[in-house]
Amino acid sequence: MKKADCIFCKIANGEIPSTTLYEDDMFRVILDLGPASRGHALILPKEHFANIYEIEEEYAAKAMILAKKMAAAMTKALGADGFNLVQNNGEVAGQTVFHFHLHLIPRYENDNALVFWEPGESTPEEMEKIAGEVAKAL
Ligand code: AMP
Ligand code: ZN
Repeated sequence: MKKADCIFCKIANGEIPSTTLYEDDMFRVILDLGPASRGHALILPKEHFANIYEIEEEYAAKAMILAKKMAAAMTKALGADGFNLVQNNGEVAGQTVFHFHLHLIPRYENDNALVFWEPGESTPEEMEKIAGEVAKAL
């Protein structure tokens, strides 16, 4: 399904032009308009899924296979030194466009492109408790 008022549905399906790196019947890969680094791109499914909770398993699996292919090609073509895959879900996690997308971010020596978290602290008891809580939900 497509969502009528979704900008990424329109871009993925070619109704709004984009700089496209790759396209097949399920996905379009476009350059991000506000890149974190040179070549920052987005994998967009052509069907509308808001996030990781809603995406169909086949799309989720194929998005990761496509990410592997794109990472290899982009690293080679752009001379990247490393690569981040980033995928945000929900406003609190930094999602601003509510159509599933996987960020492909080539990294270069000293690019300072992404800010990572400050490592926090945990305890063996807390880690056991978390593992138990998640196990119950699987
Ligand atoms: P997120 O914060 O994970 O939802 O990422 C949304 C990303 O989409 C940001 O990196 C934006 O720069 C990018 N973006 C928003 N609108 C467009 C657009 N029309 N074309 C390309 N990238 C876009
Ligand atoms: Zn959409």
